[in-house]
Order: sequence, then C-alpha cells, then structure tokens
Amino acid sequence: MHVVVNAAMSADGKLSSRRREQISISGPEDFARVDALRAENDAVMVGIGTVLADDPSLTLDDQEHTEARRRRGDPPHPTRVIADSNLQTPPDAEVLSETAETIICTTTDAPVDAAATLEDAGATLIRAGTDRVNLPIAFEALSSRGVDSLMVEGGGELLFSLFDAALVNRLSVFVGSILIGGGDAPTLVDGRGFVEDFPALTLDSVSRIDEGALLEYTVE
Ligand code: NAP
Repeated sequence: MHVVVNAAMSADGKLSSRRREQISISGPEDFARVDALRAENDAVMVGIGTVLADDPSLTLDDQEHTEARRRRGDPPHPTRVIADSNLQTPPDAEVLSETAETIICTTTDAPVDAAATLEDAGATLIRAGTDRVNLPIAFEALSSRGVDSLMVEGGGELLFSLFDAALVNRLSVFVGSILIGGGDAPTLVDGRGFVEDFPALTLDSVSRIDEGALLEYTVE
C-alpha cells in the first residue's frame, strides 16, 4: 500500500495551538490541492485525537473530483480510516456520516458496547493489536480490503507511529507563514520522538502556494 502523509504546519512546525483547536494555516489554493490529493487516494486516515479535536468529515469538496472518481469506477469519496484503540469515536462524528465508507482501526481489547454502537452507526471495525492499534497489521488488513493508496492527514501522535514503523512513502507539508509556539502544541511528528535512526527524507520539490511553501519529500 502506498502511503502519503499530508499536513499543514506553522513556520515553527506546529499543527495546531496548545488548545488543539483547528487553525487556518493554509489558504484556498492549498485546500484545493489537498482535496485533489484526497481524491487520488483510496482512503484518508486520521487519529482519534484529530477526530475529537476537529470533527473533520474527510470527504471531498469539489464535485469534479467525485464525478471523476465515479467515472473510473471508484466510490465518490475515499474511505475514511480512524486509528482509535479504545473506540472513543463519537457515534455522531462527521467521519461517520453516510457520505462515505468509514473503517475504524481498533484493538482486540476495545469495549464491546462501543463496538456495537459504532457498527450500528455504519463503521466497519478492523481489530489489530491489544493496547494500541498495531499499524502494520491494520495496514495489511486495509490492503486486503482493496486500499492500495492511503493519505494520512495527522495528527502528530499518529504520524510519529507511522514514521517509527517505516510505513510512510511520501510526505507533503504546507508551511504557513505564521508562528504558533507552545511546548504543548501538537507538532508534525510528536509521540516519544526519535533519538537515533532519524527517518531521512529526500526533498523532491519546493513550491510557493498561497502565502506559504509546499515541501514534498520522499521518505527513504
Ligand atoms: P492524532 O495523531 O490525531 O491521534 C492520536 C491518537 O490516535 C492517539 O492518542 C491514540 O489514541 C490513537 N492511536 C491509535 N493507535 C495509535 C498508534 N499506533 N500510534 C499513535 N496513535 C494511535 O492526535 P494528536 O497528535 O493529538 O493531533 C491532534 C491535533 O492535530 C489537533 O489539534 C488537530 O487540530 C491537529 N491536526 C492538524 C492537522 C494539520 O494539517 N494542521 C492535521 C491533523 C490534525 P488511542 O490510544 O485512544 O487510540
């Protein structure tokens, strides 16, 4: 499965403020680029932290993209994928809207009641791992369900685990011309961080978009 990470960060590397509320870091040109990138992928993934903080729908905005997907025999919107070990996804979350399919990657220890509620709300569950979602196993299960390309939109906790498990092929990051600051504000890659074997990137392109820069990397 090909995995691309896409996120927008401030010039000081923050995805959001210490309040973890959604911040407008990019602009209309970048939103259109992100919509097009979503449309190219079979599935779009975030961590439960992002679902709880932003309540994103993760669906496509531009009808031209949904039409193009229909013409090539794909569902109009990519499948939404959530990493949620303890099934904390609210049953009324936007990611569970009927607009698109939703897969929740969870653990074998996840509460049974919550599993039933979320399945009733239309989600498909993949169980991988015990304490936290085992991402390599979850990704194999996604592959076997026909997900050949996955776009991951964050946040920093999930991204650390993905880079740590060497599951990412490409990274696109929009660097907005603002500073957010704060030691507790989420950054592009959080988790416990790396102290050795730092993931190496090859810079493929730099382009000016809106009032910021889009950096595109291949992950070695
Ligand atoms: P996150 O990465 O979205 O979700 C992290 C959660 O995912 C973990 O706490 C964990 O909760 C769950 N998870 C399940 N399996 C995991 C695994 N193997 N490794 C890591 N996590 C796993 O949350 P976040 O880091 O708090 O980021 C949320 C913030 O990022 C929000 O402020 C949001 O606005 C911001 N954000 C910004 C952008 C952007 O482009 N600027 C994009 C996305 C998000 P459980 O253990 O309970 O499962």
